[in-house]
Amino acid sequence: MRGPGAECSSAAPAPGKAIAPCDAARYAVGTMTTDTIPAGDRETILRLSREYGSDRRWVIAGGGNTSVKSEAHLAIKASGRSLGTLSEEGLVVMDRAALSGLFDRRYPDDEAERERHALADLMDARAAGQGELRPSVETLMHDVFAQRYVVHTHPTLVNTLTCAVDGERHAREIFGDELIWVPVVNPGYVLGLIVREAITAFRREHRREPWLMLLANHGLVVAGENEEEIRQRQRAVIEAIAGSMPEDDARLVRPAAGVDPAGKPSGADGDRASIDAWIETLRAAWVEAGEDEPVIVADSDENFAEQSGDPALMHEHLRAPFSPDHLVYAYRTPLILDAPAGGASPSGPRSPGEIAEQIRAFRDLHRRPPRVVIVPSLALFGVAQAEPVARAAAALCLDALLIARGAAAFGGYAFMPEEQIRFIEGWEVERFRLKQSEQGDR
Ligand SMILES: [Zn+2]
Repeated sequence: MRGPGAECSSAAPAPGKAIAPCDAARYAVGTMTTDTIPAGDRETILRLSREYGSDRRWVIAGGGNTSVKSEAHLAIKASGRSLGTLSEEGLVVMDRAALSGLFDRRYPDDEAERERHALADLMDARAAGQGELRPSVETLMHDVFAQRYVVHTHPTLVNTLTCAVDGERHAREIFGDELIWVPVVNPGYVLGLIVREAITAFRREHRREPWLMLLANHGLVVAGENEEEIRQRQRAVIEAIAGSMPEDDARLVRPAAGVDPAGKPSGADGDRASIDAWIETLRAAWVEAGEDEPVIVADSDENFAEQSGDPALMHEHLRAPFSPDHLVYAYRTPLILDAPAGGASPSGPRSPGEIAEQIRAFRDLHRRPPRVVIVPSLALFGVAQAEPVARAAAALCLDALLIARGAAAFGGYAFMPEEQIRFIEGWEVERFRLKQSEQGDR
């Protein structure tokens, strides 16, 4: 059987949804359009996107987005595409006059209705010839920055601050009046509104354009007029936060300079034979629990190796998601397998039937099977119907463990509020993003 998580598969969308799913044939039509953004500027944003997108410490899977603008147009990453592999046909061109019109619209109070209308208007604000490309839901946020380039990522290091109890206070100490701090807010149209208010207030107060924004339980936005400015500012943000935490923690969460792709999964090759045996056991357990046979990948890192001998600590650190990415790809929480009775090794062999029992119990509680299974003292496994999603789920779970650790420097970690979790779980836009990523990283 398929749990209610089936809406996240590549099956047809629920009826009544405003936007049809992208289909490959339509993509092939291409996105030729005459816009006013110089080719060189587009190349620059693609280069920056691939650079930051290929380092998992900056962004994982379909997370984050980038844009470049002219007076009249904004080219932004299409929803569901990955920054690391972004190419010309993954950019969707928006008409900026039509976009700013969205701010004057009056939408229904009901959240789902409001987002549905706003999404339809966002689709209408595209320039001609965009095929079925859907702009990122964060398009409005990009548009209100005055600078030519906007790079929005979800860096692990930055999120140790944005997902911390005292994150705002520490961020203000670190960045002074360069900073715009956006509290936890539902993504989509409301985020756009709040960002616009914050930027307007900043301009009034400081008589200059802001370039740095931190989004609580979400990530980083940096704006700049040229490539060098973006790089220099990204570096400055990273160094400033890294300098405020213990060196050991900073080393684990610091991204590469943005040049050297460090995005390869670390592979968890410590005990390959055990890992392969576990993948087989988990696959059999999934089928025994009545699920479709999944793709399973193993992952690990230095921090996991340190923490994973303490399942109670991991339970606590992974009790809830830190950001929309964690929720969308890795679900609310992983399945952490407790050590078997009788003092056997926690990573020792288990029968598929025993694991299937735990999958069923998890499904009863969360209405879907887990995306991540943790075998203490061994590895963490991403489980999904498509490999990119399995990889993303595993990477995001490791990311969450790093955030929980690093946030100690800023008053301790703080999960996303329950209200926002529920909003995102029910939001068609995020189901779309996930569906796109399941079709592979294009
Ligand atoms: Zn984001």
